[in-house]
Amino acid sequence: AEAFNAAVVAGRQLNAYTVETPELALEAADAADRDRTTNSLKPLSGIPLGIKDLFATVGVDSTSGSNILKGFKPTYESTVSGNLKAAGAGMLGKLNMDEFAMGSSNETSAYGPVMSPWKRNDGGNAALTPGGSSGGSAAAVSAGLAPGVTGTDTGGSIRQPAAFTGISGIKPTYGRCSRWGIVAFASSLDQAGPMARTVRDCAIMLEAMAGFDPKDATSLNLPVPQWEAGLTTDLRGKKVGIPKEYRIDGVPDEINAIWDQGIEWLKDAGAEVVQISLPHTKYALPTYYIIAPAEASSNLARYDGVRYGLRDTPEGGNLDAMYAATRAAGFGAEVKRRIMIGTYVLSAGFYDAYFTKAQKVRTLIKRDFAEAFKQCDLILTPTAPSAAFGLNEKMADPLAMYLNDVFAVPASLAGLPAMSVPGGLDSQGLPLGIHLIGRELDEQGVLNAGLAIE
Ligand code: GLN
Repeated sequence: AEAFNAAVVAGRQLNAYTVETPELALEAADAADRDRTTNSLKPLSGIPLGIKDLFATVGVDSTSGSNILKGFKPTYESTVSGNLKAAGAGMLGKLNMDEFAMGSSNETSAYGPVMSPWKRNDGGNAALTPGGSSGGSAAAVSAGLAPGVTGTDTGGSIRQPAAFTGISGIKPTYGRCSRWGIVAFASSLDQAGPMARTVRDCAIMLEAMAGFDPKDATSLNLPVPQWEAGLTTDLRGKKVGIPKEYRIDGVPDEINAIWDQGIEWLKDAGAEVVQISLPHTKYALPTYYIIAPAEASSNLARYDGVRYGLRDTPEGGNLDAMYAATRAAGFGAEVKRRIMIGTYVLSAGFYDAYFTKAQKVRTLIKRDFAEAFKQCDLILTPTAPSAAFGLNEKMADPLAMYLNDVFAVPASLAGLPAMSVPGGLDSQGLPLGIHLIGRELDEQGVLNAGLAIE
């Protein structure tokens, strides 16, 4: 019991959970015992899972890492977390995250940063970020505080934290998982997905999470494939594309070495490797940082002090003063930055120069992938341009933070399935991720290549 309590204390120091709900996990465990006696076990009977705080969970604080939603207990459940419940899973708690999923280090959270369970092997004790925005999700799995968790990925938020913490995570094709009940960041990009220790666990979870939902207008009306049953490491006949534009200056040799290692592993599994080109890659990051803030500025307009959470009523003020005071007090600096960028690029005078242009470039990026997938079945790249960085290292420099998404963002703009799997450790002993991008709806191909690498 002493060792257990010490482990609980150590686990809590990571700040991975914003709320713990052990009673819900125990309820599911009891239900699983009953299911076993009646021979009616479900795919996830009794499995305790962590849920990112971006998901609305009935009766449990759902705050998206923001002060403006503190105390918000939804009366409804997101479709994805509801699907996991229906499959028998129990919720361990809600997982810390960057505020409204905006960030790459989990440092914009109103609950404070999450610590990675990993340390550099330099004898120092520097605290590292688990990545973001699904930083609590990544830290929880990596530290053994949950066997599997939900994440969301708008521009890398499942894949980059998975890479930083040595776990696996997949963002499925846009539309596979319902967005209903997931707090909207950039609606044309947001996708939910699983993060877990193994590729197989990701496949099992994704099967439970995905599926058509009439409550989400962009939900794909397609049956959910049996991804777990379809797993194989036999990649004979598959062509893997290596995009030359992803060899960018300033990326450490160790990242490129892991990438080359990944290429060898896929060859060993029978795949053929071909060189490809994705010519508009260099425009992906600026395009993302116009489209995502534009959609965010619109989505976040609903936090007005009337409908949810926080309300700040200045003495003698009118309705406008209440809106302004609530939003000034409720949103953090990064969220305000995104609202300002988004409002600017959508404003009448700049709409065509920025927003319309970004939409056009997004189409070109999608076309790049469509062309590339005429020559290959899968694309292999590094997940992130660095290993986990230190807490506070990039917070003062938003552009340096945004650059961390350089490899993850193109697949998001194109709506394609993409996964990060652990590739190995760098010379500091920190995990590096390998990134696989698949054709639309080819989660199976991505999972299989991930399994071959794992
Ligand atoms: N880091 C990116 C951003 O800050 C992506 C976040 C995400 O995927 N939710 O927008």
